[in-house]
Amino acid sequence: MANLGNPQNTIDVIQKHGFRFQKKYGQNFLIDTHVLDKIVSAAGVTKDDLVLEIGPGIGTMTQYLAEAAREVVAVEIDKNLIPILEETLSEYDNVTILNEDILKVDIAALAEEKNGGKPIKVVANLPYYITTPIIMGLFESGVPLDNITIMVQKEVADRMQVGPGTKDYGALSLAVQYYAKPEIVANVPPNCFIPRPNVGSAVIRLTRYPKPPVEVEDPKKMFALIRASFNQRRKTLVNGLSNAPEIKASKEDVQNAIAKMGLSETIRGEALTLEQFAALSNLL
Ligand code: SAM
Repeated sequence: MANLGNPQNTIDVIQKHGFRFQKKYGQNFLIDTHVLDKIVSAAGVTKDDLVLEIGPGIGTMTQYLAEAAREVVAVEIDKNLIPILEETLSEYDNVTILNEDILKVDIAALAEEKNGGKPIKVVANLPYYITTPIIMGLFESGVPLDNITIMVQKEVADRMQVGPGTKDYGALSLAVQYYAKPEIVANVPPNCFIPRPNVGSAVIRLTRYPKPPVEVEDPKKMFALIRASFNQRRKTLVNGLSNAPEIKASKEDVQNAIAKMGLSETIRGEALTLEQFAALSNLL
């Protein structure tokens, strides 16, 4: 089968099957061989690896992954793509296609069954409308992970990577950085896709930490504090947290904790580092 990273081959497959793009599924197919090579090499895929691909589309990146990995499991929601994938991937005996919604797949069970519970790699050109639930689902459901190497909207990649003091800093930055080391490995312009997305894209690698970089007694509580702080970005941390119904701490408790940490009473949540949110959570 011809390399689908070549734009003409992608157009031929789409025309041959009369495939119609569905906007609701975030379908933008990659047509740039350099970007495809870059993603697979950034993920460090080897013949030992089980790779989960989310949203294979017509199988463009799947071809690259099948060459590099021991085994690939590709989960695609659009049933119209399944017969196309069966054709474009017919040469490979190490690819399994599942016609499912990734948000409903038990990925931990899949890793257990296909990889004996050893860490898997996740590689994807993600459907942008569900980037955050996919990433958080992978981290929070205890899937054994080596790294997640994904194409996302450029602005979302920036959000995952930044620290306090920038406008992009928020709950997603802290959640990602609690679980993984984020590194943007490529910026990708709209003309590398069919059809072209309205936004710039970036490839980011999230390398899972064996152990989180901060010690938190109750991570759920810390994430509730983080969410409450950023929901009320313009308020001081003291007001933001004491107004939040889901936080069971009085204004005085928050004031005392902040004072113990040596922070100003007027500090805003957006100024706190992950270490400081962890300390605050442990104090409250
Ligand atoms: N991997 C292909 C490529 O790079 O050319 C396609 C990437 S396209 C941005 C996203 C793909 O995810 C589409 O094929 C879309 O149908 C699929 N998709 C969207 N929502 C999904 C979901 N909930 N579960 C699984 N796949 C989904």
